[in-house]
Amino acid sequence: MAVPEQTREVTMDKITSLAKRRGFVFQSSEIYGGQSGAWDYGPLGIELKNRIQRFWWKEMTQLHDDIVGLDAAILMHPRTWEASGHVENFTDPLVDCKKCKMRFRADQIDQDKLAQKICPECGGELTETRKFNLMFKTNIGPVDDGSGLIYLRPETAQGIYVNYKNIVQSNRMKIPFGIAQVGKAFRNEIVTKNFIFRTCEFEQMEMQYFVKPGDDVKFFDYWREQRWAYYQKLGVDMKKLRWHQHGKDELAHYAKDAYDIEYEFPMGFKELEGVHNRTDFDLKRHQEYSGKDLQYIDQDNGNERYIPYIIETSAGLTRQLLMLLCDAYEEEKVADKGNDDDWRTVMKFHPELAPITVAVLPLMKKDGLAELAQEIRQGLKQDYATDYDQAGAIGRRYRRQDEAGTPYCVTIDYDSKENGTVTVRDRDTMEQERVHKDELSSYIRGKIKNYTRK
Ligand code: ATP
Repeated sequence: MAVPEQTREVTMDKITSLAKRRGFVFQSSEIYGGQSGAWDYGPLGIELKNRIQRFWWKEMTQLHDDIVGLDAAILMHPRTWEASGHVENFTDPLVDCKKCKMRFRADQIDQDKLAQKICPECGGELTETRKFNLMFKTNIGPVDDGSGLIYLRPETAQGIYVNYKNIVQSNRMKIPFGIAQVGKAFRNEIVTKNFIFRTCEFEQMEMQYFVKPGDDVKFFDYWREQRWAYYQKLGVDMKKLRWHQHGKDELAHYAKDAYDIEYEFPMGFKELEGVHNRTDFDLKRHQEYSGKDLQYIDQDNGNERYIPYIIETSAGLTRQLLMLLCDAYEEEKVADKGNDDDWRTVMKFHPELAPITVAVLPLMKKDGLAELAQEIRQGLKQDYATDYDQAGAIGRRYRRQDEAGTPYCVTIDYDSKENGTVTVRDRDTMEQERVHKDELSSYIRGKIKNYTRK
């Protein structure tokens, strides 16, 4: 049996190259030289993204009786962004190089070079630091005279705040309750590296939890615990996660307390998700700017009125996908071919998240094995995402599935024709077990249920 040994270093270049090679993520408009800040999710990438999204959705809605979903429009009334503070404050400090024309975030380059106004790329002269608003602007309506100015939303949260009253009324929600939403957000970011970590178009998974003022600290702690537990369930290496509490200088002006969950990516610990106590800032501002009464009326407590506090959990879907690519990636030295130098690249996704759950592989195309394999795949399709591969040597096919992160490979051989049994190869251990084809589906279900990463 193969014994995995020693793993090699995971780099962002390796992740990027595997993602392209196996159809997880492609550069946007690559044939035109690519569009920076935008990426396309290929056949395996969209499966993985959908699974993360479903996992998050189930966790936040199905498993929490007091949370409901929403899908708000990307285009919102422009006053929304005045109320939220984005028009005024959603800026990054930027500097330009007068020589090579590159633009940098002033807080992300060498501070000595910044002080001396020296370009970190070409040594040319840098401009003064300027504030640059990150919102994308466009026009709505038939007239292009500026009166139809509208923004692509830079976060999904505001769609939740402006619908809070609708949801209280239509769904008879009682505080405390939450609203969950997954959707696209757009920020005109300066993006130069780290693959899909920071992009101009991305997806967020946000849940805003409305509480009575005074209960905010209790629920803030509760949601920090819940969000930490979520990553445990996702099967991530918990040693690579840590909390980062915002210091006084980092805290948004409206926030009472804020923590980020950070993951150790190949380029170091970086933010994955924020858990924020946003106080009553958001609803107060929307009340002020819209002129609508956004107070909650507590009918169980003598019609007490108040503006709820909001605890926010804000995660990046595309950033979680990058985390899972990094976390799952392993290079192992294996001896299953009797060759000391044989390495395999294997994506050890949790089976619930893997883009393909079962691959069906006939040992040979001939002698009716391919037909039997197709029949077996047909039987598994209702329960699992399946793949079928009959091209090339079986060892090569296993390696292809390892790179895709397929946890189970079912191989059909001559014995299968004789007695109806097939082999199931476990991706992580590379061990094979013989199982009767009629028990295959429940056997795989059991393996998924009891999965722990090896
Ligand atoms: P940063 O300070 O790094 O710009 P942020 O603190 O502004 O990020 P939030 O506004 O709190 O980020 O967004 C919540 C989550 O959305 C982040 O934790 C991250 O997972 C995701 N996110 C934010 N901006 C981007 C982006 N440009 N590309 C991909 N994901 C993003």
